[in-house]
Amino acid sequence: MTANVAEIRARTRSTVMAVVKADGFGHGAVTVAEAAVAAGAGWLGTTSVAEASALRAAGLAVPILAWLHPGGIDAEAAAAAKVDIAVGSVDELGALLAQAAATMRIHLHVDTGMARGGCPRGQWDELIGLARRGQRARRVRVVGVMGHLPLADQADPAANAPAVAGMREAQRAVWAAGLGSPLAHLAATSGTLTDPATHFGMVRVGAGLVGIDPSGTVTMHGASRLIAPIVHTRAAPAGTPVGYAGTFVTDRATHLSVLPLGYADGIPRELSPQAGVEIRGRRLPVVGRVSMDQIVIDTGAESFPIGTSATVFGPDGGATPTVQDWARWAGTIPHTIVTGIGPRVKRSIA
Ligand SMILES: *Cc1c(COP(=O)(O)O)cnc(C)c1O
Repeated sequence: MTANVAEIRARTRSTVMAVVKADGFGHGAVTVAEAAVAAGAGWLGTTSVAEASALRAAGLAVPILAWLHPGGIDAEAAAAAKVDIAVGSVDELGALLAQAAATMRIHLHVDTGMARGGCPRGQWDELIGLARRGQRARRVRVVGVMGHLPLADQADPAANAPAVAGMREAQRAVWAAGLGSPLAHLAATSGTLTDPATHFGMVRVGAGLVGIDPSGTVTMHGASRLIAPIVHTRAAPAGTPVGYAGTFVTDRATHLSVLPLGYADGIPRELSPQAGVEIRGRRLPVVGRVSMDQIVIDTGAESFPIGTSATVFGPDGGATPTVQDWARWAGTIPHTIVTGIGPRVKRSIA
């Protein structure tokens, strides 16, 4: 984690926000936040005010931004935890102005090409006008302008150019409205690693913290290891069907070991036959269907005793699969592997 933050800081002069949504991409929000701040991140970012409040409660003191408000903005909770909030529509800002007791710190979230969150281009003037009135009445203070890049994973600055232009336009409109020069932020991990023109005053980095580079251009450091003990071992003659529906049948006399992890713990149910784990320095295949709580490993001639540790993924390389390997075997992206690891898996800091 520390090495990843260093990697990121070496590529930008902008402030780094550590995005720790989805429980710090499955690694523990407080753990990731503390490590990132210690390594030089100046801000924290979360999806919801509730996630941000939990970071405050854990003693994190840097500025925190929350950008999604299911059920409406909870101004009271945001003010109590001193959390900045992103406001992505005229309606949302209107509702906030109607309830804000103390002066709220807000970031105007403009749509720079996602059509997901953020105020559509045609309503920026209305949003900025309402923000100006709110700021004059001391109900809000505009401290940031936020966009998001739809195409940064292509690692091609030309693909980001329209969003960068949109961001500059939003900045100019905010300046022209007399709202000062709030902190502008647009880039996430991919933009940070591949396109300095997207950096503005701050970059918001999530995936990169835990070793995932969605642009595929930089090798980051895997931040986690998933291990499990063998809970059952047996010999199996040739022709033994394994697991539900017997989809795998042993083609020789072999040994099978069971690990106490299944799809309820985030092991993808659909896996290519290449999927495997590391046991005592060897890559051994997962065979048969992934069950809710268990997977079976074909250990060949070796019969491993109960309690032998298997590494499902880790940063080491070699026989140890990476999170990226699991993503490939499951036909998905590394993000879904790390955020999918279930609550039964005990987290500890190495
Ligand atoms: C998740 C998210 C980020 C971080 O993206 P990564 O690609 O994980 O670095 C940044 N900004 C917003 C709005 C996000 O939702």
